[in-house]
Amino acid sequence: MIDHHLVGNYINGEWTSPANREIFNSINPSTSEALASIVMSSSDDVEDAVRFAKSAYHTWRHVPAPKRADYLWLLADRLQERKEELAKLMTTEMGKVLAEAYGEVDVVIGFCKYMAGEGRRLYGQTVPASSADRMIMTIREPVGVVACITPWNFPISLAAYKICTALVAGNTIVWKPASDVALSAKLFTEIIESCGLPTGVFNVVFGSGSTVGTMLAEHPDTAVIAFTGSTEVGRKLAQLAGLHLKKISLELGGKNAVIVLADADLDLAAAGIVRSAFATSGQRCTAASRVIVEASVQEELEQRIVTLTKKLVVGNGLSLNTDVGSLANPAQLKTVEHYVDMAQQEGGRILCGGYRLDKDLWEQQGLFYAPTVITDVKNSHRIAKEEVFGPVLAILRAENYEEAIALNNDTIYGLSSSIYTNSLHYANRAARDLESGLVYINNGTSNAEIGLAFGGMKQSGNGHREVAYQAFDVMTEWKTVYTNY
Ligand code: NAP
Repeated sequence: MIDHHLVGNYINGEWTSPANREIFNSINPSTSEALASIVMSSSDDVEDAVRFAKSAYHTWRHVPAPKRADYLWLLADRLQERKEELAKLMTTEMGKVLAEAYGEVDVVIGFCKYMAGEGRRLYGQTVPASSADRMIMTIREPVGVVACITPWNFPISLAAYKICTALVAGNTIVWKPASDVALSAKLFTEIIESCGLPTGVFNVVFGSGSTVGTMLAEHPDTAVIAFTGSTEVGRKLAQLAGLHLKKISLELGGKNAVIVLADADLDLAAAGIVRSAFATSGQRCTAASRVIVEASVQEELEQRIVTLTKKLVVGNGLSLNTDVGSLANPAQLKTVEHYVDMAQQEGGRILCGGYRLDKDLWEQQGLFYAPTVITDVKNSHRIAKEEVFGPVLAILRAENYEEAIALNNDTIYGLSSSIYTNSLHYANRAARDLESGLVYINNGTSNAEIGLAFGGMKQSGNGHREVAYQAFDVMTEWKTVYTNY
């Protein structure tokens, strides 16, 4: 049981008092129990956080990068020590199953180590000069204060990708976590605090995105906006960044598809599809939300998908039997119900699921929705075009490879795509033809590895990448140095 307590901001190495301030509640979505009350930051808080981060930047940028990286080695150890506490809190606060929460902490530990290694690289270039007695080179320089704004579905990893990269590069940070996971963000902050970073280097402000997030984006002293979230909010932030000529990295939504060709291993495909569609209750930017199947194997594939889906146990993520946890908040549940209704009105046929699970089956007022598979979907239907971000899978039919690729690419998004086939020919053509930042062959849409660029094409982002050294493209500036000796 978690204590109901008040949470303030973390600014310049101190937790501020939330007494007599406007607050919001963090809720357990599996039970609707209130977990904590968190301060709603004011413009003064944002002002303070940015001022201290700016002041700390002047010193931090001169700490040698391998020494900056040492804090990340320490952070990896501290996370290892507090893994259980952190994983259980994330599950309690946003509903994902415990195994996934442990997996998330492991990813962050791995990423801390990967990024710490970058502290000894941060490569620039030297090239031959055209005149004698001259050396020319480019070096990476930090940019300044980075405003990190993150969503609730991966409470710590999406923040860690930004925070660790920014720190190693020599930037300082103001982080605005999603309100739905404020308590997990607080614990992650305490763990970062335990590593002894110089005061002001890392700061956290809680509060609503439309106010605190906007203030951070507009502030003249934030040099970079690093955002993961919806395409709608990403577009607003891109406008602000454009107005103020700031660097901005955007990791946004997706409408990811799995193509299954007639020659595929259908058991393998069905297992990969069900995993990618329903892990984290479908609340992943890389979740499979469309299946595009070659007509001749549609029925066989559907049977396999439905059989596996019906076996999934839905419930409180803390229970070790649970395969699919709750949705993260009431708005998510409403959105899912709305899209499933609309899909049927547009001609979709439900193969399984399609309803909210009776709340009496679960503790109190959990936000549980049955994993849902809908067939006879056309790419013109809204269920095939718009991001649902819930446990809903739409099945579309294609006559051949060419039509399957065309359907996959017929979306404003371009985050993750997958193809199941035993044909080397089609697998390689798909790697070339699929318009998405991530392509999987004989794997679901959701399985990223540390050290490889992560991000989307088209409206899934703005061309930047995270989770690998390519993230330095936004977290550093190039400086070109000419030396006549
Ligand atoms: P969201 O509504 O866009 O919120 C994301 C973050 O932005 C939250 O911290 C939110 O704060 C803040 N925010 C909201 N409105 C804002 C505004 N006007 N200005 C500045 N900040 C604002 O997204 P979400 O519902 O939390 O997350 C789901 C979305 O994230 C999906 O679209 C999903 O695809 C995307 N996502 C993408 C990736 C990726 O790597 N491509 C990964 C995960 C998720 P509050 O919520 O506290 O108000």
